[in-house]
This record gives sequence, structure tokens and C-alpha cells, in this order.
Amino acid sequence: MIDHSLVVLNSLSGKKETFAPVNPGHVGMYVCGPTVYSNVHLGNCRTFISFDLIYRYLKHLGYKVRYVRNITDAGHLENDEDVGEDRIAKKARIEKIEPMEVVQFYTVDFHQVLEKFNTLPPGIEPTATGHIIEQIELIKEILAAGFAYEVNGSVYFDVLKYNEAHHYGQLSGRKIEELIHNTRSLDGQSDKKNPQDFALWKKAEPQHIMRWPSPWSDGFPGWHLECTAMSTKYLGASFDIHGGGMDLKFPHHECEIAQAQAIHNHPPVKYWLHANMLTLNGKKMAKSTGNNILPMDIFSGENDKFKKPYSPEVVRFFMLQAHYTSILDISEDALEASEKGYYRLMEAVQQLAKVSPMNQAGNFDTDQWLKKCYAAMDDDFNSPLLIAQLFEAVKFINLVVHKDHPINKSQWETLTKMLAVFIHDVLGIAPEQKSSNANEETLNKTISLLIELRNDARINKDFTTSDRIRDQLSEYGIQLKDGKEGTQFTLI
Ligand code: AMP
Ligand code: ZN
Repeated sequence: MIDHSLVVLNSLSGKKETFAPVNPGHVGMYVCGPTVYSNVHLGNCRTFISFDLIYRYLKHLGYKVRYVRNITDAGHLENDEDVGEDRIAKKARIEKIEPMEVVQFYTVDFHQVLEKFNTLPPGIEPTATGHIIEQIELIKEILAAGFAYEVNGSVYFDVLKYNEAHHYGQLSGRKIEELIHNTRSLDGQSDKKNPQDFALWKKAEPQHIMRWPSPWSDGFPGWHLECTAMSTKYLGASFDIHGGGMDLKFPHHECEIAQAQAIHNHPPVKYWLHANMLTLNGKKMAKSTGNNILPMDIFSGENDKFKKPYSPEVVRFFMLQAHYTSILDISEDALEASEKGYYRLMEAVQQLAKVSPMNQAGNFDTDQWLKKCYAAMDDDFNSPLLIAQLFEAVKFINLVVHKDHPINKSQWETLTKMLAVFIHDVLGIAPEQKSSNANEETLNKTISLLIELRNDARINKDFTTSDRIRDQLSEYGIQLKDGKEGTQFTLI
């Protein structure tokens, strides 16, 4: 039995720490989900695939995991600021549709893309608009604790007051003095006592259509508040893992800590895990700059970034070949290398299934190999190290298959079972699903071959064979028509 001492890099301490959940055997994990005002780009997907790996491994270790990943469908304003238009309302205005049509459309897109990437759905997927009451209750509690103030129907979190009792900046390392110095005083922020304060509730301008009644005004909640409301509701005031992309550390996650700590007097989260960014041409993939690519355009090959299509399985494999805390740059060369590696791995697994084990053991220590595989994942979910170990197994399998090296039953069983576990269950890498286009191409090629064989048979006056091919194809709904330009076929 392998002793699992899982360590995780906790962004709060900046150190690797032994993972010990609040309730032994159970894990509560909250991950910030997408703001559904546009198609998810590949950068967003990297973060969700990173947390899918973490979710899968925790489950594999036997933890009962409650995984909550929200949908942001209100309150996230342009530029992550406290002023400006709601991203969803803006899209609705431009498209001349209802905000909830925007939300529905891009939520469906998000789910379809993540399903292609073989990510497991979270246990709970709450929305901000579905938790307005909980958010209003939280604001009341923060007001009662004395860390917020109301001005003209809006409620703001008092960062300086909070910092007197607690430590604002504990996650991001930002210093309050620098924040005061650097925060821009934007128009419309004049209601705030200090520019670094952030909105818990905003009074809606007349043109702001996404609005709800509250004790302070008809308005809408601040973006940071929703995650505190939903994580507390479903995971409690103290839970194990909070995740998201690095770019959310400040202000979003810093503000989440402040809101929760202001009420409960203790930190809400034991381990903060942050996934690093996917870059394209060395720059962060982002919706706002146009430096991004949509997953579906990679799968279809219809894009101006890459020469050929890459399957979701290959793209997922590419992502997992980097550690989730490292920056990853996507390029044609890197994707091609991952594609080769993916096929080499899948081919070896298929070949192993056909091998008949013998009595003699081969030169491969499966116990040591298993230990190294688990050691990789136990070290902060190090998927590139795990994949390197999988290729050690591939080397051995290729010797067995091509050079007739021995493998005994126990080696064969361990490798067969554990490769399936690591590849499918832990890494979430599935065998490649052919697209319907690829299937159609294969069908066309197969029928053309049969037509050629039928023509050869006719030339050789082997009419039994030529008739058999025609009749059998007709039975399958494929009609052959002989004409001047050769034989054509139709599918009926
Ligand atoms: P958003 O919809 O903008 O709130 O982002 C959803 C998630 O995607 C957040 O966790 C972001 O941190 C993450 N994200 C955004 N851009 C990237 C990127 N280029 N690479 C990795 N994750 C990203
Ligand atoms: Zn969040």
C-alpha cells in the first residue's frame, strides 16, 4: 500500500503544505467559474482542466469531494472595476437580446466545450443571480460587523477599517500603502470613502437593466460577493480548497477573504490553489485583447493560428504536459509534439492489450514505477512528471512488443490496470473520438476501394464477386451507379 502524503502549493503561504482537509476524508473545493458573456477561450479552459485534474486525483485517492464551480451571470463589470457596464448587460444591448439569453447561450457553449475536453461536471454549479438573497444577507452581516458603509443606495467594503483588525493583502502580498498610492480615482467612485474600497452592492443607474430590490436600493451585487455567498452556503465558513486562475488573486480572491473574515473572524479557506496562464505568442490569452483562440476552432482547424486541426484529447494532453502552476505557451510545434506523444502512448496501451504474458519477468520494476507515478501526483499534482513515468512504461512495452522481451502476468496486469487508471481516471485522457467529418472521409475512402475491387473483378470476369459487392452495398443503403465517368455512389 502506498502512503499518500499529498502536498499542495498554497498561494496563501507561498509554500508547499501537506494536505489535511478540515473534515478527514472529505474535501470541499470551490473554483471560480466563467463570466458567461462570450465563448470560453482556450486560456479559460486551461484553468478548468487544471482543476479537473485536481478533482480527479482527489477522488482517485478516495476523498469524498464536494466540488462547487459557479457561473457568473451578474455583477462582473467591465475592466473588473466598480464602475462601468455589466459585461452581460452590455452584450445583451449589443445583440438586442435579453441578458438571460446571453447567459443561457454562453453557459451552453461552456458546457459543450468542457465536455469535449472530458472534464467532469462539478457537483454544484450555482449562479450569482440565483443567490441574490444570500448576497444581501452577507452584506447585512458585514455592515453589522462594522466593515462596510452605505452611501446613496450603494454599500462599500471599508478596506482601511478592515485592515486595522485584519490583514488586507495576505493572499496577494499587496501593501495597503501601495494600494492607496496606486488606486486610480475613477469617475463615479466619488461615493467611496477611499478609492481602494470595493462595492458590495451598487445602486443601479436608470439604464442598468440587471437589478434587484434590496434594503439599500434597486441594484446589483458586487462581483467578489457572489463567490463568498456561494462558497459559504455550500461548503461552510471554513473549507479546504479555493481555486481559480492566477489573475483572480487580486482583487477578486483578496476581497473574498476580506468579506468572509470580516464576518467569521477566521480565514475562509485552508488552501488557495492558483492555475497559471496559457499564453499565445508569449502573451496572456485574453478575451479583451483578441489574443486568444476558441477551442472549437482548434478542433475544426478553422483558425488562422495553426496549420491543421488538433483533437480535444491532444489539446488536453498538451495542457497536462505542463505543471498547472507554470506558464504554458501554445504553438504549432508544441501541439505537434503533444500529438505524437499522445499517439505513442495510446498505441502502446493498445499493443499491451494484445500481448500474451509469459512466465519470465521482464526488466521493469512495476512497484517502483507505481511509487514514482504516485509520488509525481502527490507532489502538487505534477502531471508532467506522471506523464514522464507513463513514457517509461511505454519504452518497456515497446521492447516487449517489438523486440520480444519478456513480460510476466503480474507485470502485464499491473501495467494494464494502472495505465488505464492514470491515463483515463486521473489525467482524464480519452481515446480520440473521430469527428463526423473524419468518419465520413473514412467511409468515402472505403466505398471507393470496394468500387475499385468490383471493377477489377469485372475485368477478370469474376461476376460472382462483383455482384456480391454491389448487392451487399445496396443492402447497407449504398447504391452504385455505373456511368461513362465510372461508378458513382449514393447513400440512401
Ligand atoms: P472569466 O470568465 O474571465 O472570469 O475567467 C474564467 C477563468 O479563466 C478564471 O479562473 C480566469 O483566471 C481563467 N483565465 C482567464 N484567462 C486565462 C488564461 N489565459 N490562462 C488560464 N486561465 C485563464
Ligand atoms: Zn470567484
